[in-house]
Amino acid sequence: MSVMIETEEHKALRAAVAALGKRHGRDYVREDLWSEAAKLGYLGVNLPEEYGGGGGGIAELSIVLEELGAAGCPLLMMVVSPAICGTVIARFGTDAQKRAWLPALADGTRTMAFGITEPDAGSNSHRITTTARRDPDTGDWLLTGRKVFISGVDIADATLIVGRTEDSRTGRLKPCLFIVPRDAEGFTRRQIDMELQAAEKQFELVLDDVRLPADALVGDEDAGLLQLFAGLNPERIMTAAFAIGMGRYALGRAVEYARDRAVWNTPIGAHQAIAHPLAQAHIDLELARLMMQKAAHLYDAGDDVGAGEAANMAKYAAGEACVRAVDQAVHTLGGNGLTREFGLASLITASRVARIAPVSREMILNYVSHQTLGLPKSY
Ligand SMILES: Cc1cc2nc3c(=O)[nH]c(=O)nc-3n(C[C@H](O)[C@H](O)[C@H](O)COP(=O)(O)OP(=O)(O)OC[C@H]3O[C@@H](n4cnc5c(N)ncnc54)[C@H](O)[C@@H]3O)c2cc1C
Repeated sequence: MSVMIETEEHKALRAAVAALGKRHGRDYVREDLWSEAAKLGYLGVNLPEEYGGGGGGIAELSIVLEELGAAGCPLLMMVVSPAICGTVIARFGTDAQKRAWLPALADGTRTMAFGITEPDAGSNSHRITTTARRDPDTGDWLLTGRKVFISGVDIADATLIVGRTEDSRTGRLKPCLFIVPRDAEGFTRRQIDMELQAAEKQFELVLDDVRLPADALVGDEDAGLLQLFAGLNPERIMTAAFAIGMGRYALGRAVEYARDRAVWNTPIGAHQAIAHPLAQAHIDLELARLMMQKAAHLYDAGDDVGAGEAANMAKYAAGEACVRAVDQAVHTLGGNGLTREFGLASLITASRVARIAPVSREMILNYVSHQTLGLPKSY
């Protein structure tokens, strides 16, 4: 009996997406790749079939993102649009919301961004203050607050904003999700000047009494954190896929270079000081992928709690593996590691994103310390 980590379908999906990525390559045009990937059914591979998706899960979606990344053409908005927003709407949205959004997210004609981070909350999302109150006359929502580092708001038709509503019994604020159209009155954005070479931009958002219809609320007002984590676990798994893809891309360039470049009698790849760290990077990326596959498997099987721990560990392992692979790749190329022609130096900045977002390395270590190991909290 042969043991399979990945099914034949998954392997075929991997190969097909890798071929698409190869056609676009490092000089890809984001919009073109986005629409071609959508047409081929890859963007909506995790969304329900009845709403135009592929009927698969995060396991399939993470394969798509990893392979595009490994070809040098990652689509960051996949972490957000189909993975977070698509999942939350598919699981908790009304029929009308599903009809309005899922087919369009799947065929790529509409994109949704996701905003939780706030200037004064950051890693502590319990502290977010973006607040929604009801207009007693119309039943509309009025949303006020600020967000920061929100990706792709300019190219997204709407942003899924995490706000809070007041619990009428306890007076405490609880998280709620709202679909905010890009052109809603009172919703403004300012591009943040990032030292990041990427097709997607980050924005600071201001919501100043943004009036939204009652049906802008996604899911149950009282389900709060449960609904949020239904979206945040796929985000972590997809960030792992993003990081593994980038790490593989960098490692691939370094290995090619180390095979050919000779400054003594042998190619530099024959020197163990060059070869071993590349081998280690490969092992670390493979290990991170195993944990990512475990997390995706648990999530797709409906085990939200088990998936939470595995998704955190996968994101951590992939972020660290990516940072180390990129660092070693740049070093392998010597001076060429820093030229624009070889294009690896910009990945030093890009790879750090996976260590910081959507949840930082330290917050995952905190999670594992407290939740897994039962150690006391420092904060
Ligand atoms: C390129 C990019 C794209 C992004 N896209 C989005 C997006 O689309 N939507 C969105 O909502 N957000 C987005 N983010 C935001 C991202 O999720 C946050 O940057 C991240 O959650 C960290 O928050 P912060 O930047 O406020 O850092 P802070 O919370 O201020 O943390 C700063 C440092 O302190 C450490 N730290 C904080 N608390 C503790 C503690 N208790 N113990 C130990 N160390 C601690 C952190 O690990 C970190 O190293 C994006 C960020 C980047 C860089």
